[in-house]
Amino acid sequence: MGSEKAAAWMADFAAQIHENAAMLTDLDRQIGDADHGSNMDRGMKAVAAITAADFADDGAFLKKAGMTLVSTVGGASGPLYGTFLMRVGAAWPAEETAEGIGAALRAGLDGIVQRGKAVVGDKTMVDALTPALEAYDAAAGQGAQAALEAAAAACAAGRDGTTPLVARKGRASYLGERSAGVQDPGATSVTMLVEAAARTLG
Ligand SMILES: [Mg+2]
Repeated sequence: MGSEKAAAWMADFAAQIHENAAMLTDLDRQIGDADHGSNMDRGMKAVAAITAADFADDGAFLKKAGMTLVSTVGGASGPLYGTFLMRVGAAWPAEETAEGIGAALRAGLDGIVQRGKAVVGDKTMVDALTPALEAYDAAAGQGAQAALEAAAAACAAGRDGTTPLVARKGRASYLGERSAGVQDPGATSVTMLVEAAARTLG
């Protein structure tokens, strides 16, 4: 037990967000309101400041991280990322098997879908996370590390696949056809989250 794994995951993600904040904000400038990178960077700095030793296990740490994002990140991103992490934390397995971690990540995706009401093809983070979880489940028999790596690769492919899509959810949907041709900012940041998971949770 202990919360070192979850803390490492969140620290890695926070570093990726900080490094890529300008790029994320630029994507959001093109099809949203130009705040995704700065918003996420503020939230993940707050998450990175959480003291891991205060939490008995990874699940408790992730729930706290989710609550922190809800309270520090505005727009749609705070509630969506916050819901994801709170659900993952609540479902985190006592024994960190590939199947257990996969079920927790699946609970997180279900939370995002319930909250955001997006389906595959809407040009959102769901377009990256859905194939990521499918790839995870398909590779889970080879262990958590292999499954996480498969998930990260599928997540990146899903992210890339958002570029030609016309947005049907969120602020980008107001642009209609003009939203096509830009990679979705949420799919971009969530791929960093899954890539960070592959580096820390296996
Ligand atoms: Mg925005």
